[in-house]
Amino acid sequence: MMPVDRLRFLLTRLAEGEEMFLSAFDVTPWPEGTLERLVAAGLLREGPQAENVTCDGCEKYCLQPVHVRPGLDDRPPSILVICDQREDIGRVSIKPEQLRQWRCGLDLLAVTLARMLEIEETPERLSAGLWRLGRAELPGLGRECFLAAKDGFDSALVPRGGVVLLAAATGEHGIPLPSILRLDDGVLILDRLALGEWLSGWFQTGEAVHPPQPAPSFPGRPSLMAAVEQEMHRRASNGELLPSLQKEAAWLAEWTDINHPGQQTPTEKAIKNALRHVYRSLNNPA
Ligand SMILES: [Zn+2]
Repeated sequence: MMPVDRLRFLLTRLAEGEEMFLSAFDVTPWPEGTLERLVAAGLLREGPQAENVTCDGCEKYCLQPVHVRPGLDDRPPSILVICDQREDIGRVSIKPEQLRQWRCGLDLLAVTLARMLEIEETPERLSAGLWRLGRAELPGLGRECFLAAKDGFDSALVPRGGVVLLAAATGEHGIPLPSILRLDDGVLILDRLALGEWLSGWFQTGEAVHPPQPAPSFPGRPSLMAAVEQEMHRRASNGELLPSLQKEAAWLAEWTDINHPGQQTPTEKAIKNALRHVYRSLNNPA
C-alpha cells in the first residue's frame, strides 16, 4: 500500500462509521515511523488491548478470541488463541505486542483537523457523523468549519457559508478530505493550496455556497471549471463579457492558463461546452 492509500483507507472507513480499530497485524507492514507520526498527529490513539487477534498459525489469517492464562510461580501469563481452521494447529501462542491496537475516530479526526486549521475552539459533536470544528481563517475570509463523515449529514446544522470537510472521497456537499490531506513520509499534511483552490471555486448563488465538483477530466482535483465559471460571473457583473461565446471561451481559456500555471487546464472547446448555458443566461439576463 502506498502511504496515500493508507490515509485514504482510514478516511473511507471513517466515512462508513464513527470509529475503527487497527490491529498490530494491520500496522506491521507500514513503513517505519508512520504509526508513531499518526499517533503524534492525534489521528490514532492506542488502546484498548484487542480481544480477538489474527492467528498466525494457519495460512487463513483466522480471527480468534484471545485466552490469557495466569502464569504460575511468578512466570508471565501465557496468551494464546485456538485455531479452528486446521486440526494440526490447535493452540497458537501470542506475544503481548500482538494485542496492541489503535483507535481512529471522527472525534480524533476533528481534533486533528482543528489543530491543522489553527482553530482555537474545541470541536463539538452536533449529530451522528457531524462535528463542528470552529471558526478558521481560510484564504480570504474566516469561516465556520465542519467535519462530516459523508453526504447525508444534517445540513440544517450547518450555517450558510460553512465549510464542510468530508471524510468520504466524494460528495456533493463538502470538500472531500482525500483531496486536501496527504501523508508525506508519514507526516500528515494539509494541502493549503488545494484547499484554497476548492474555496476559490466556491461561488455564491444567492441561496447557499456550493463547492465545485471535480469534473471527469480532472480526476481527484478541484474543478477548475468552477473557477472559470466564477470568473465569467465576475466579468458579466463588470460588463466585461465578450459578445460571443467563442470569444469569451477563448479569453477564459487564456485566463485559466495564466492563473493556474502547471495544471491541466480546460480548453476553449471544453469551456464552451461546459458553460454555454451560463454564458447565455449572463448575456441575455431575463
Ligand atoms: Zn488459524
